[in-house]
Amino acid sequence: MIRFDAVSKNYPNGTTAVDALSLELAEGGLTVLVGPSGCGKTTTLRMVNRMVEPSAGTVSLRGQDIREVAAPELRRGIGYVIQHAGLFPHRTILDNVATVPLLLGWGKKKARSRAAELLELVGLPATMAKRYPYQLSGGQQQRVGVARALGADPPVLLMDEPFSAVDPIVRGELQAEFLRLQKELHKTIVFVTHDIDEAIKLGDHIAVFRTGGKLAQFDTPERLLAHPADDFVADFVGQDRGIRRLSFVQASGLPLREGPVLPVTAPVGDARSLGEPWVLAVDAARRPLGWAATADLPPGGTLADATLAPLGHTFALAGDSARAALDAALLSPSRLAVGVDADGAVAGVADAYELSAAIAGASARASASAAEEAVEEAAEEAAEDAVDEAVDEAAPVGPAGSATKLTKSDAGEDVPAGGPDDAPVEKDSAGGGDR
Ligand code: ADP
Repeated sequence: MIRFDAVSKNYPNGTTAVDALSLELAEGGLTVLVGPSGCGKTTTLRMVNRMVEPSAGTVSLRGQDIREVAAPELRRGIGYVIQHAGLFPHRTILDNVATVPLLLGWGKKKARSRAAELLELVGLPATMAKRYPYQLSGGQQQRVGVARALGADPPVLLMDEPFSAVDPIVRGELQAEFLRLQKELHKTIVFVTHDIDEAIKLGDHIAVFRTGGKLAQFDTPERLLAHPADDFVADFVGQDRGIRRLSFVQASGLPLREGPVLPVTAPVGDARSLGEPWVLAVDAARRPLGWAATADLPPGGTLADATLAPLGHTFALAGDSARAALDAALLSPSRLAVGVDADGAVAGVADAYELSAAIAGASARASASAAEEAVEEAAEEAAEDAVDEAVDEAAPVGPAGSATKLTKSDAGEDVPAGGPDDAPVEKDSAGGGDR
């Protein structure tokens, strides 16, 4: 979808902002560019909408060199969101969001109704529409910034540190909301941040840059955490990458045992006779109520008469990660994590040792399948390249010296675009066939 081919940006003062970058970003994907300050992230982003022109190399969008498209036309298909939202201070929120539709000549009424729709989409109440930017919080302004960028429903969104200027709690909310929005909209997003946690949370692919505008690694978050390409990436990703990697391991496969679980109506004698230091009391629907310390049980009565220590938190077998399971074990007074099913009923318990043994096995299997996938991808690419090469060699050259344009048929074979009599047309300037 967006492709950088050996793209460099050098400034007259001798700075190399981006150095021979080759990268292909998938349609509908969310790619995060991350790295220390000054490593060329913003420059890379701005080369996509021609706010910065490369010194060398080619940026293409859906196979077309973007230099062939006039900048205003190109930008119509590319939303742009920046830090502090960049709203027009003297326009209402509604008019800020209506800016692009108005520029496209939509007419006031239609543009405003589109703007109202967009405000709702980003989770802002209609009452905000008539306010001015200064009357909104930083987080709300940022939502308006996103709504404005979506004005003309562009297929591509460029986002430059959009959530960096708000406090961590609002930031977390914006990130969650943004992920929800992306699930609905499937935009092709390029997102710049210096924060590796944000990159891992949001990106389905991450490009890590090092100083000097060099790409250090391009990978999925999971592979980046499991297999950093070198010491720089390992350092940048952080010491706790082992723990963070657990976010990508599903809790559903973790083995649980029955554990010391009793209804809260059970006599304390039953709890004592389990011979365990802690007993988990559950309600009639097996939902966990709290842990009773066996040593502190009252002499008689039921578990309802005992003091129950709070659980910390449980983890859901469907939906939570191994990280949540391990955290549940570490926070639990009994050191046992409580796994619950979709109804919140206790499915079983496990301690940190049991979990970590299972997690090690699960992540080894995940790494193995990721490696297999990578090998398959590479093999597919190599096969495609071989086909393209064969096509290039076999392409009949017309009298003017230009090759016949070829397209792929449904069966994956290369056939002339308009049949055998198709007039000779220009060959793809990238020289890579019709990919
Ligand atoms: P990042 O977004 O990763 O912080 P930038 O892409 O903004 O980095 O900048 C990359 C490098 O290019 C930095 O060293 C920066 O100082 C330099 N740079 C950016 N714009 C210019 C410019 N207009 N003239 C000279 N140097 C620039």
